[in-house]
Amino acid sequence: MPAVAARTLADVTADALRANCGLCWARPRQPCEGGGTHLPRYQRAHRRGVLSAADMTAVLAAVIASEVPAIATPAGHEKRAALCS
Ligand SMILES: [Zn+2]
Repeated sequence: MPAVAARTLADVTADALRANCGLCWARPRQPCEGGGTHLPRYQRAHRRGVLSAADMTAVLAAVIASEVPAIATPAGHEKRAALCS
């Protein structure tokens, strides 16, 4: 069985941009508001078959390890986080 080459996060993000964003409603190939790429965009691309489960695992693992600074924080979430602390 041939080994499957791992895709880079840059490749995965480029494919995620093929979907519109479910948070800021950026259209395909347009960047999300505020820079970076919102996580719902990755999820939408996954639901549409653009990203694989392995791609999503890599993205979420990178988020947990804070290796994806390009994933944007939705506007206003900082205030809610501050209110909860
Ligand atoms: Zn967005």
